[in-house]
Formats: sequence, C-alpha cells, structure tokens
Amino acid sequence: MMESKQTRFYESVNRNFNKAAEFTSIPKGLLEQIRVCNSVYQMKFPVKIGNQYEVIEAYRVQHSHHRLPTKGGIRFSHLVNQEEVMALASLMTYKCAIVDVPFGGAKGGVKVSPRKYNALQLEKITRRYTTELIRKNFIGPGLDVPAPDYGTGAREMAWILDTYSTFNHGEIDAAACVTGKPENQSGIRGRTEATGRGVYYAIRQMLSYEEDCKALGIEPGLEGKTMVIQGLGNVGSYTGMISQDEGGASVIGVSEIEGTIYSPEGIDIQQLLNYRKDKGTIIGFPGSKKLDVREDWVKIPCDILVPAALESQIHKGNAKSVKAKVIAEAANGPITADAEEILLKKGILIIPDMYANAGGVTVSYFEWLKNLSHMRFGRMEKRFQHNSLYAIVSMVERLTGTTIGDREKDLLTKGAEEIDLVRSGLEDTMVTSYHNIREVMKRRKKIHDLRTAAFVNALDKIANDYIRLGIFP
Ligand code: GLU
Repeated sequence: MMESKQTRFYESVNRNFNKAAEFTSIPKGLLEQIRVCNSVYQMKFPVKIGNQYEVIEAYRVQHSHHRLPTKGGIRFSHLVNQEEVMALASLMTYKCAIVDVPFGGAKGGVKVSPRKYNALQLEKITRRYTTELIRKNFIGPGLDVPAPDYGTGAREMAWILDTYSTFNHGEIDAAACVTGKPENQSGIRGRTEATGRGVYYAIRQMLSYEEDCKALGIEPGLEGKTMVIQGLGNVGSYTGMISQDEGGASVIGVSEIEGTIYSPEGIDIQQLLNYRKDKGTIIGFPGSKKLDVREDWVKIPCDILVPAALESQIHKGNAKSVKAKVIAEAANGPITADAEEILLKKGILIIPDMYANAGGVTVSYFEWLKNLSHMRFGRMEKRFQHNSLYAIVSMVERLTGTTIGDREKDLLTKGAEEIDLVRSGLEDTMVTSYHNIREVMKRRKKIHDLRTAAFVNALDKIANDYIRLGIFP
C-alpha cells in the first residue's frame, strides 16, 4: 500500500510538471532533460547492530546537474524508497531555481526507522552511508552537498562532515561538503529555524496582497488568523512558534502521531513542545480537546492549514473535507495532484512546497558560502556599522540637545550579527520569490494556481541555464 502511495508522489510531481510545461515555450527534448533524474545511486551496505549484521538499503538521487553542486537533505525513514527519493530530488531542483539558489537538486534516503536505534548505532549507519557516497563521488563541496531532512538533524550532519574530512584530509573546503551542521561545528546561526521561518514569511507575504485576500474572503495580514498544523517536527514547530510570536496568528489545532488536539482559544506551541517532552504526547495538553479521529485535522475550519509532515497527506479521499482558506505546504508534496484539483475547485489557495519550504535550502546556501569564505557573516562590517550609526545618533543628540537612554542607543546603533544577516537574506528571498511567482500568474492569464506559476518560473530559469551552458543551443 505504501509503495503505491510513493508512486503517486512521483507521479504527482510529474503531472504538475507537465501541467506547467504547457505554459512554456521550452523545446520538448529540453523539457525531458529537465524532468528526468540524472543519477540514481541505490546502495545496500551491512552495519553491525549488537550481535547481528543488518543490511541497510539507501539512496542518493541527483536530479539535475545543470548547476553544481547538487543539493538536498537526507531522510531517515522506514518508508524510504527509490521513487520517493526521486520525487524529493526533483522538487529540490525546482525549489532552488525559484529562490535563486545556484544548485541542482538532490535527495538522499536511508531506509531505517531512527527510533529503533540508539545514537551509537545511528552514528555507525550515518558514517557508513557517507563512506558509500564518498566512494562514488556523491558528496563534496562542489559535487553534492547533503543537509537534514525528515529523521535527521545537526547531529547527523556533524557525523557526515567528520567522516568526509577523515577521507579528505587537508581539503581546505571540506566543511562545505554538508550543511545544517551544529553552530559550533562550521554551521550557521538560524539554519535550524530556517524552513519554519521561511514558511512564516511565505504566509505573511501571501496575506499582504489585499486583492488576493479579498478574493478568498479574508482580511489581509496574519494577525488574528487561525492556523492548524500537521506535524510538530522541526518545520511545524518553528512555523507555529514564529507565526504566533511574530505574526500574531492563533494555532487552534495540532496533529501528531499520537493524535490531534484542538483548542479554539489557541495552543501555545512552545508550551506544547515542553508538554510533549515531559509527557511523551500532545494529548491532554491543558485547555485542548482530543479529536476522536486523528486524520480529522484536515476538517478543522481555519484560515491557514499547514501540512508539515510527509507527502500525500491530503489526497482524493479527504480533500473535500478541507475547510481552510489557504494551505501552506511546509512539507514536500503533502497534496496529491488529484487532491489539488479538488482543492482548487473549492477556491482554496495553495502556497506550493517548492516555494513555501525553500527557506531551509536558502540558509543552507548561506552556510555553504560561509564555509567557502572561511569567515562568519558580519565579521567585517558589524563594528563599522555600529561606529557609523553611533556617530549619527550622537550628532542627532547634539543637534537636538536631547539624549536617549543607553539601551535605546544600543538598539539603534547595533551592527548586524550573523543571525541578523541570515534572517534578512531569508526574508528578502521569500518576499522577492513570492512576488516573482505572483507576477507569472498575473502575466499569464491562463495560469490560475501558484504551483503552476512557480513551476513555470523554475522551468524558464533552468532552461536558460542549459542554453547558457551551450548544452541545448
Ligand atoms: N531537506 C530540506 C529541503 O527539503 C533542506 C535541503 C537543504 O538544505 O539542502 O528543502
């Protein structure tokens, strides 16, 4: 059953691709070259777990070599299979093109359930997987750069870097072989929150266009809007927290493996995370009610629905019950192509994955640049900015004959730190990219949905790259 679900995922990506391709003037052969996966590496390797040897199945798919390195996360899940990784790698290519991150798309998958292993065993698996990638030239700062995805995080990235460095002793750019690393091990501030923060900017941006909100029958702005989130992993948690804290949204429903909770008064995500850490479940969170059927998260009436878990969660079977005005695809591929047709007919606006969740790879790009430059962002300019601002504020004080408090002065004269620059770069990327996608939709009257517009935007850029490279003159 799972198999067919994953097949549907890759098919959905291709169906969406074909739908968008009709709106471009890209020659057929070039379209085919853009669509297919360039390299698919399937591996099986043994790892000794306790007294037993286990054969682990794993993949790395490089979808497009039109730009190098290729880029994309590594997923650890017992559901991983080749078609799923191919679909995810394809999405990475389009994602990078949309946000102008100069990489081709890739994705990795290791077919293991991380819950079944302890940290030492996971380290063994991760290091062995990395060794397989090294052997086939499937990893390197200029070749292919992995990152976290479902089931992996900064810890796994540190193991990958250490393994890579061991085999490439003295390679000056080794740190750029993987992103999403711990901050104190060549990582960058703001990477962990990046995907969720990007989803927040995407929603905020969508809601800033008055005429688009009017068409949906909602007021502009995120303040006071209701939100339901499926999945409290890294992406779902940060989307919820930042939307609440910075955007003033109210999260009224949360769904996780153990069930779905609902509270019209709003659920504080930080408190919910603390509760779950303590109790091992979201069920019973004070002030919330558990829904009888976990899958009914799709039915909760709300302004914004955020699927932040896995693919194919909104499908032909449940799409009719969606009562949201906007769906922000924080996960990759959470809506099947069949479901999308139903949702669009219902007038629901979908902010597509390849734009909405591109914040992760955007900040990965910043991390890669930081590693290649061997210097922290802000190191050169922070003090200069502070000194200039200090001089201006002091002059205003002198000219007006008033003085401001030390704290106020500190705030006004602060030079940009790495985290400020990362957030600024991310915000600008999300704002500009939304505008570009929306423009495609405005210009081409026959395109009625953001996914097709985003795809067209990506396809045109990738085709241009191929032509520029002289591959398709
Ligand atoms: N796994 C993330 C994604 O799906 C991040 C990839 C990256 O940072 O390279 O976009």
